Amino acid sequence: MTGTDALAGLDAAQLQAVEHGDGPLVIAAGAGTGKTRVLTSRVARLLEAGAVPERMLLLTFTRRAAASMISRAAALCGDAQAAQRIAGGTFHAVAHRVVVEHAQHLGLVDVTVLDPDDVIDLLDLLRSEHKLDGTEKRLPTTRTIADIGSRAMNTGTPARKVIEEQFPWALEHADAVLALLRHYSIRKRERGLLDFDDLLIAWRALVRDPDVGARMRARWDWVLVDEYQDVNSLQVDIVRGLAPDGQGLTVVGDDAQAIYGFRGASAGHLLDLAETLPDATLVRLERNFRSTQPILDLANEVRPGELGLRLRADRPDTGIRPSLVVCRNADDEARTVADRILAAHVDGMPLREQAVLMRTGSHSAQLEVELKVRGIPFHKFGGIGYLETSHVRDLLASFRVVLNPADEVSWYRLLTRHRAIGKVSARALAGILADGGIDRAADAVAAAPAKARTGLASTLSLLGAVDATTTVPEVVEACRGAVDPLLRAHYPDWQRRAIDVDGIAQSAARQSDLRMFVSEQAIDPVNVAGDWAKKPELDEDWVTLSTIHSAKGLEFGAVHVIRSCDGAMPSDMALSTPAGLVEEQRLFYVALTRARDTLDVYAPARLPTHPTSFLARHVVAKPSRFLTAEARALMDAVDTASGVVVEPAGASVPAAGGTPRIRLDEFDDLFA
Ligand code: ATP
Ligand code: MG
Repeated sequence: MTGTDALAGLDAAQLQAVEHGDGPLVIAAGAGTGKTRVLTSRVARLLEAGAVPERMLLLTFTRRAAASMISRAAALCGDAQAAQRIAGGTFHAVAHRVVVEHAQHLGLVDVTVLDPDDVIDLLDLLRSEHKLDGTEKRLPTTRTIADIGSRAMNTGTPARKVIEEQFPWALEHADAVLALLRHYSIRKRERGLLDFDDLLIAWRALVRDPDVGARMRARWDWVLVDEYQDVNSLQVDIVRGLAPDGQGLTVVGDDAQAIYGFRGASAGHLLDLAETLPDATLVRLERNFRSTQPILDLANEVRPGELGLRLRADRPDTGIRPSLVVCRNADDEARTVADRILAAHVDGMPLREQAVLMRTGSHSAQLEVELKVRGIPFHKFGGIGYLETSHVRDLLASFRVVLNPADEVSWYRLLTRHRAIGKVSARALAGILADGGIDRAADAVAAAPAKARTGLASTLSLLGAVDATTTVPEVVEACRGAVDPLLRAHYPDWQRRAIDVDGIAQSAARQSDLRMFVSEQAIDPVNVAGDWAKKPELDEDWVTLSTIHSAKGLEFGAVHVIRSCDGAMPSDMALSTPAGLVEEQRLFYVALTRARDTLDVYAPARLPTHPTSFLARHVVAKPSRFLTAEARALMDAVDTASGVVVEPAGASVPAAGGTPRIRLDEFDDLFA
């Protein structure tokens, strides 16, 4: 490899960005214009120019993204080993490493990360402990309360104000919500637990500390951030704190793709940064290297905001327009998607190059069944439900109580896996064990319901045989011994789940630092979550199923966007505020711009009121409001009843809810 590889094929604007010196650099450009590629080439180029890899910090939105950029940079600069030493990962993962390193400064003995499900568990525990249940009717759900707390933390807004502005209907319960959030933060501190927001807050506090902050600034010469449009204000503070004058800072992103408003991100971060750093160079990339012009025409039409910023394709036009596929209902949609995936496959589009994108993970319920029935292999990313990973999390909980006996949430989780222990006793016993650790095993057993004592005694004696000083394989073995019988009894479909538990146990046993492993799984569980379908081998061909959020930054030859109807896309939940609606529009835009060659947008005319229940009612659905008449005029309309393209395209979208030839859902209302 030679030095020119990092620059090969780049156009003038891209070259300018890659070759830029060490002043602040902001690349604000549309989807598919090569932002990520430029960032990767810049990393490679810096390495070639002698930059020390340990002194580069590469922040991305997923672990996968960091890993793939680093391996590409490695290939480009020809020094794979150097590239692997780059500090890279998500904000949360890097925050975690930084926090562990500086635990003493933060007054933490142990660092145990609460994942979003743990947060709910802990809030539930506190809710019943403080009797914030039952008496008061219609208190917001625990998930909403967690959301309120998180928004407050992420934006530095008082929680009461968050409730007033974003959850006005919950205002009458504001006092109870605030009380619960207060209990929550006290309990986290007592037990050494950090949720995702705490990780960022802790990192920011370290950056702001005169001493530690100075060392941290001295440690990284280069800070590079992809997808900067989705940083929240905590992350902005961290980035700004690491590079106050912007020296060595490169950020890239596209404000039109900002899709994390609910986390406290707000559109416009890129231009904000360019404005506040007077020396910043702002680079705009104009040519889209990913998609064909007909796909971009539709994306331009759907994209919210300035009309001037239209994406232009660099590729020759294939003449293939995006399709709007109107289906009768969710089952019809599933069959049609499967048909079209296979048809594209026959036309030479490998399954690996095809993705089904959806607003919410549950939208593919029918499709997953259809794919399984037809033997079409797939792999699902993002939106992995609680149920699918709960067995994995059970095993992790056992590791966690061994490593940090004060981890009440994990005790609670393990205790509820015992047959004869209900939620109330689990809560009491978790308190005892979290306060005194395994030393109080006898007390816990004595306090347990009579029927549960033998089982609990056995669990605790197995877990008590190891602690944080025992070797990792021994801890893993003891935990498996303790957890296996519980899970076997708890999950009727244990056999399927056992594969995942084996997998996670095996990779845990190979770790040198189990604590780090456990926290990393909490932060980014993608690698653990066993999906129901057998995990495909690397060389196998499989279709990607993904939430749009998880498909950010990725591209596929053929993209199928399902459930593109009002209520699903935009989601009903987002309609309460105008900002929510625009964010849904950006999300749809992100989905459309993932496609390289073909783009199919599906709109079922009837939708179940519940994603998976067979008893769900079916209600009439309309194609997404984002598919305006102008947008539809850019698409070929396909009617699944006849399977043919309807002419003239755009004008003839069948009326939503038109009478299907065979009705299978006419009795559904009876079961509502
Ligand atoms: P997104 O906003 O979706 O993250 P992006 O701006 O990061 O998009 P990339 O993913 O970097 O865009 O690039 C999109 C596609 O265009 C990739 O397949 C990339 O390899 C290709 N590409 C980028 N620059 C060039 C170029 N100069 N010549 C040919 N192909 C290019
Ligand atoms: Mg990108």
